[in-house]
Amino acid sequence: MRKGPWFKGALLALSLFVLSSALLAGGCKQQATAVQAGRSKPTVIAASFYPVYIMAKNIARDIPDVQVINMTRPTTGCLHDYQVTTDDLKNLEGASFFVINGAGMESFLDKVTAQMPNLKLIDASKGIALIKNEGGDDNPHIWVSVSLAMQQVANISEQLAALDPQHADAYRKNAAAYLAELQALKDRMHQSLDGVQQRDIITFHEAFPYFAQEFNLHIVAVVEHEPGSEPSAGELAKTIAVVRQAGIKTVFAEPQYPAKAADTIARETGATISYLDPAVTGPDELDAYIKTMDQNLIVLKKALGGQS
Ligand SMILES: [Zn+2]
Repeated sequence: MRKGPWFKGALLALSLFVLSSALLAGGCKQQATAVQAGRSKPTVIAASFYPVYIMAKNIARDIPDVQVINMTRPTTGCLHDYQVTTDDLKNLEGASFFVINGAGMESFLDKVTAQMPNLKLIDASKGIALIKNEGGDDNPHIWVSVSLAMQQVANISEQLAALDPQHADAYRKNAAAYLAELQALKDRMHQSLDGVQQRDIITFHEAFPYFAQEFNLHIVAVVEHEPGSEPSAGELAKTIAVVRQAGIKTVFAEPQYPAKAADTIARETGATISYLDPAVTGPDELDAYIKTMDQNLIVLKKALGGQS
């Protein structure tokens, strides 16, 4: 039998019909998924500021219906005397959990809990032995020690797992993977720093006592006890005398704060300024803390290893 033009036409019509049905079906399917996603509201975990935000982000990574947000900006820095804003409180709306550093860092906490009585608090400092500042209050910069950052990650993961059993396995699995990365970081830092001769250091604000404790470094002076508060002429003179007496070659400033006082000390004593980052600001990336600490390690090795 000869295939006439009518046959070709029928074939074309049929294939067009099949094609449009497929498009239609695809469109319906997409719509259905969107409706489903809209129906299941994600679990929102809020963190008070950058260091605990990065921890929570690692613990909740790749869990499709869990979202981690930061109440403050990644550039906010330490929350000493921080006044919570209406925008901050707005950010917390819809959050089920609020991860805090604890140890007194969130001095505004009463205001938040009064406004949001249903928000469940997760305290990352639970069970950690705190160092006292010169003034007698607790030093909250726990995360600057890698070992204690690991304890904070375990704390957050366990408290989240208890409060949100539906995602408990995923939180624990993610925390274990992140803890393994932090352990590797800790090992390479010890390997490099355990042998250095020069162990006396001068730091900028009181962010480094836990770090110094972990790596057996000795903080002989702190330039500014409160970040942003310029030391008095008397305090500055005292620090300069300590630097000369101890033969300190490097003053460690922080990239987050202007190093005016450190500049003066360096000029007066011939010491150089290096930057140690307390990992209190940074990019919105899972490996940000580890990268910052690796950079600190390079700075410390250069500053401490080069001295006799
Ligand atoms: Zn601080």
